[in-house]
Amino acid sequence: MTYGINQRPTEAVIDLNALAFNFHSSRSFIGPDVKYMAVVKADAYGHGAVECARRLEAEGIDWFGVAIPEEGVEIRKAGVKTPILCLGSFWPGQEELLFEYGLTTVIYDIGRARSLSQCVADKGSEVDIHVKIDTGMHRVGVDFREVEAFAHELKSLENLRIDGLLTHFSSAEDPQEDDFTGLQIQRFREACEIFRKAGHDPEWLDMANSPGAIAHPDSRGNMVRLGGALYGLIDDIIPETTPQPELKPVLSLRSRIAYVRHVPAGETLGYGRIFRTDRDSLIALVPIGYADGYPRGLSNRGKAWVNGHLVPVIGRISMDWTFLDVTDVANVQIGDDVYLIGGDNAAVRAADLARELDTIGYEITCGISPRVCRRYIGREASAL
Ligand SMILES: *Cc1c(COP(=O)(O)O)cnc(C)c1O
Repeated sequence: MTYGINQRPTEAVIDLNALAFNFHSSRSFIGPDVKYMAVVKADAYGHGAVECARRLEAEGIDWFGVAIPEEGVEIRKAGVKTPILCLGSFWPGQEELLFEYGLTTVIYDIGRARSLSQCVADKGSEVDIHVKIDTGMHRVGVDFREVEAFAHELKSLENLRIDGLLTHFSSAEDPQEDDFTGLQIQRFREACEIFRKAGHDPEWLDMANSPGAIAHPDSRGNMVRLGGALYGLIDDIIPETTPQPELKPVLSLRSRIAYVRHVPAGETLGYGRIFRTDRDSLIALVPIGYADGYPRGLSNRGKAWVNGHLVPVIGRISMDWTFLDVTDVANVQIGDDVYLIGGDNAAVRAADLARELDTIGYEITCGISPRVCRRYIGREASAL
């Protein structure tokens, strides 16, 4: 959806200048000796993959990471030329798509390596792949104990070139798990050595997500894969005590007051009557609800920023509406701005909502639904 003047005023405002700031700030912190992959999966964590990728490309990013080929196709169609890695590999039948759109895929099972090899052979061509090594996360990846056999099997698929090896950390953000992160790094290095001995020559050796890149200099390999850091979303991931780059929130979630009403003391509001006024109250209705990805779990718990004040979300959040208690804010009018995320000095952060819901800020921004228009600040600079 694009933003127009005759629309509901509920929108996610994405500050591409803040995104660019976070990239450069991370790069000065981590250093110029490694390359940078921007992870733009899940529509850039809800921020809009096309716009974010265009801006990061203009800022000199080296690679993009997506979860699935469909996401790579979307940014290619938007004109992105930078290499794109499909971090979650591909599904049977998508081999052609990878080839057609110039997407590089992660491989962790020999079946898919074979089907890709076959597809490419039929075209008389060859293709680069990155092999994912499981060094302890035990999600997807070639088990570090089985790397040697895998490296040899890949040798027989001559039209697949091993361009990179990667692994993924399970808890790089947690200083209490530093030993385990160290073990993952060591297992990865051993796997790289085995691949070299088997005659492969991968250019890219990458391990680090945002917490790895920031907290574990020895995990940086020759490329780091940044997601959360670029979106300014790691304040609830990395402990405050860990040295880290200055980062700014990129996304604000805003709307306007649609309706204001006086409700006398002793009345209940909304579904389930979970809030009762204990004084004569001024209540504002905001046109946002759980269908927009503003979580119902924030009923009676959330906070929003209205005219310079933090005000409580009261009653049950419904599919399309949220109640705010604005009794303590002077001169509230229909049409006044409401920030569900954002406000002066990032008054409400995605992490603040996440804390109430026992999750992380990533889930909050990923969950903002397509019904919410995305509006971009700083888009002009993408065209440079
Ligand atoms: C999502 C993802 C990342 C980015 O992680 P952040 O914590 O957001 O920096 C990096 N690598 C892989 C393989 C991922 O799936």
